[in-house]
Amino acid sequence: MTTRCIVHIDIDAFFASVEKLLDPSLEGKPVIVGGLPYERGVASTASYEARKYGVHSGMSLQKAYQLCPHGIFVRGNHRVYAAFSKGFHKILSRYTPDIEMASLDEAYLDLSRCRALYSCFSKASQQIKQTIEKELKLSVSVGIGANKILAKLATNQAKPGGLVHIKPGHEESFLKELSIASLPGIGPKAQAVLHLLNIRQIKDLWGLPRATLRALFGLKGEEIRLQSHGIDDRPLESSDRQKSISRETTFLKDIWEKRLLLAHLAYLCDRLSLALRKDRLFSHIIELKVRWSDFKTEGRRRLLVNPVQEMDDIYRIARELFSELFQGARLSLRLVGVKASDLVRSRTLSLFESYSPHKERLGSAVSEVRERYGFAAVLTAREKMLEEVYRSTKERGFVLKTASLTK
Ligand SMILES: [Mg+2]
Repeated sequence: MTTRCIVHIDIDAFFASVEKLLDPSLEGKPVIVGGLPYERGVASTASYEARKYGVHSGMSLQKAYQLCPHGIFVRGNHRVYAAFSKGFHKILSRYTPDIEMASLDEAYLDLSRCRALYSCFSKASQQIKQTIEKELKLSVSVGIGANKILAKLATNQAKPGGLVHIKPGHEESFLKELSIASLPGIGPKAQAVLHLLNIRQIKDLWGLPRATLRALFGLKGEEIRLQSHGIDDRPLESSDRQKSISRETTFLKDIWEKRLLLAHLAYLCDRLSLALRKDRLFSHIIELKVRWSDFKTEGRRRLLVNPVQEMDDIYRIARELFSELFQGARLSLRLVGVKASDLVRSRTLSLFESYSPHKERLGSAVSEVRERYGFAAVLTAREKMLEEVYRSTKERGFVLKTASLTK
């Protein structure tokens, strides 16, 4: 098999850099995007000036404020970022059709099929980098390697604004000195466990027996082992595959009871979250759809700077939208639905999320059982509760059908 050439391109401090473009007075200042200091939630991007104070993506806004009280906090605007992301994708597609948009500001390109066009991958990547910087006025970092993990690790070394190419045969020397924290499979918890074993650099992982990693991290152990050797045969996943996922229920009899509707909405959000998790997708837009007893259909959507996947997040938003729509309504509902769109494969924050091997193992065990025996074979306490609500609504003759739509 010939070696692949994967290029990973990441816009530096994307949201914060866009904010600076929109408001040049922010230039050189610590900008934190995600919300205002007293709000719940996390920072989705910190400018490099803010990072000097220890602020990073995924940190709670309150903590970010403690570290950098003079920082400029902005809520951010998903619509604007999505427009820049479109421009980013458009430029990339001039160079190759093989693109995976991992998030709004992060993409993998496979130049392998374009060998005849580009005599030198470093030069070609440099050119792509310059084009983006010139046309979008945003700084980017670029990593080149034989697969996705190597390209991504190279980008991390290149940040901010650089280009790192791991040439074939140089993988080992590139990887060995890196901290274990640089591997995407290793979150803070896994790090703490490995530190206890005095494993700090990637080369320390190489000496660990496979069985030990498996015992420590379950299925994830094998992933960590492969990552530590820079082995990764995942193909690029083109991002135009799925545009949206939704779940909706049409009621046989109109429902006016708010409690019942909310319980049903929770059930739909749970199903939607499951579908997102299964495809490892996060959603930037959550939309609520209702049809009133007079057949009028209405929708409300919320654009999110931080994409969501968890049931709790989806339900919280859907519930807020529901309250807005239902306020003062005198009609009952024939249909309720929830939709996730603007889907991205990874969340910029994922590196900082705490990793729980227990949860991971439980999750994959549950999926395995469900794949074989059906969804209802295993239910968490909450799912059981939601299933019961669903069943009782059905038994009372309310549910006509529940549909799963994927576009
Ligand atoms: Mg970025």
